[in-house]
Amino acid sequence: MKIGVVGFGAASVGFLKEIENEDVTVYEANKDVFSSSISGIRADGKLFVSSEMGGDLEEILLNSELQKDIVDFYCKVADTIPETGTQEINLDMKKDFHRFGFKLVESKFYHLGTEKLKYFLQRIYEIFLNKGINFVFGARVIDIELDHNIVKVKYIKDGTEYIEEFDRVYIAVGRSGLKLIDIISEKYPEFVIKNNTVDLGIRYELPDFVVQHLNEMLYEFKIKYQASNGLLVRTFCNNPSGYVVTEKYPNFVTVNGHSFQSKKSENTNFAILVTHTFTKPFNDPNGYGEYIVRLANILAGGRRVILQTYGDFKVGKRTKRLWNVLPTLNSDEYILGDLNLVLPHKTVKAITEFLEQLENVIPGISNNSHLLYGIEVKFYSKKMNNNLVPNLKFIGDCSGHTRSIVHATAHGLLEYMKLKQEIQ
Ligand SMILES: Cc1cc2nc3c(=O)[nH]c(=O)nc-3n(C[C@H](O)[C@H](O)[C@H](O)COP(=O)(O)OP(=O)(O)OC[C@H]3O[C@@H](n4cnc5c(N)ncnc54)[C@H](O)[C@@H]3O)c2cc1C
Repeated sequence: MKIGVVGFGAASVGFLKEIENEDVTVYEANKDVFSSSISGIRADGKLFVSSEMGGDLEEILLNSELQKDIVDFYCKVADTIPETGTQEINLDMKKDFHRFGFKLVESKFYHLGTEKLKYFLQRIYEIFLNKGINFVFGARVIDIELDHNIVKVKYIKDGTEYIEEFDRVYIAVGRSGLKLIDIISEKYPEFVIKNNTVDLGIRYELPDFVVQHLNEMLYEFKIKYQASNGLLVRTFCNNPSGYVVTEKYPNFVTVNGHSFQSKKSENTNFAILVTHTFTKPFNDPNGYGEYIVRLANILAGGRRVILQTYGDFKVGKRTKRLWNVLPTLNSDEYILGDLNLVLPHKTVKAITEFLEQLENVIPGISNNSHLLYGIEVKFYSKKMNNNLVPNLKFIGDCSGHTRSIVHATAHGLLEYMKLKQEIQ
């Protein structure tokens, strides 16, 4: 069987890791295995085992053994022992979160670090080459055509368009490849199950010592909160002693955070995200998110983000100088400003209420000098149907069913297992 895989990220790693003796070609838009700032298996590498987050497929959520096997696989290939918390949270703190309306999402974390991921990618790429898998780098897939039992993959490489035919194609383009998903779903709308959500918010940065206790217990704390205006607020991607970074997409720039195993800052950063769910006739949540992000970039004077202190954010005043928390983001990547000019009023209210309420559980967390960077956005992929036709499948984040390295890798692996059964 001639198999095409579009995208070389976590899901493709899962799909390819057990494959033997198949004719497989992988198309990757980046020019080589290392060059992308917008994929999680190139930045940070926090792996977690949880029955509550990372994706929505029960066969993965309920299988902690499979998740742990994937963590072990990453650590083994990266040849590293991951950082973790003690993973035990004390009962009093659990009770406090509950009392003040927070849901603590429990999970086990293993942190590899950005530098170990680079090594992982180099090793796994060599392993796959030795298995005879073909890689075409610098190849951006721009269209897919279903033609009876054949799937045609159209891609551009070095300015020239090519078309290649396959018996089976796995689309694994992650969230940076949502444009391809839009193209496919415009052509074949029957693949789309659901499309109505985007998460918008900010990256919050504060001194390590304020959350040191939590960082030591959990490495990453994940909490959810239902604001009084009905919006769901959650923390995401906590980076003890980490760095705030920008993510540069072709049309806009967002914020994110990461950390190294070896190089440490004195600040912790995490995202505070607010879920926005829409109803018909509106059906472009990602367009809405992109619009808000671009507004922040326009106000910041180009491909930059806005930075504001929490004290100024609360009262709707532009930040003109910083106080005693210094940003870890490079100074040419942000401008001091006012995020109230960008975020909808209800989003600002939800974030403020969340931080004020959290002060009851973590004293000092809502200090006026803490930093907010905007905009951070998490696009949800449309939920795609993998049972419609046998020869076109969507794996990992672009399928709308996963949102993490472990789940995307597991999804790829499970789809390979199904293929293996089919072939045998
Ligand atoms: C900065 C950042 C940090 C993150 N940190 C973590 C973390 O610590 N832990 C965690 O669990 N998750 C993290 N995530 C999320 C995690 O990266 C994803 O959930 C996971 O990588 C999804 O795997 P995937 O294979 O679906 O997509 P990806 O890993 O994103 O891979 C998709 C690949 O497809 C390629 N591609 C896109 N479009 C095309 C096209 N048209 N043609 C050809 N190739 C294309 C991309 O270049 C990319 O290499 C992070 C995400 C980001 C952006």
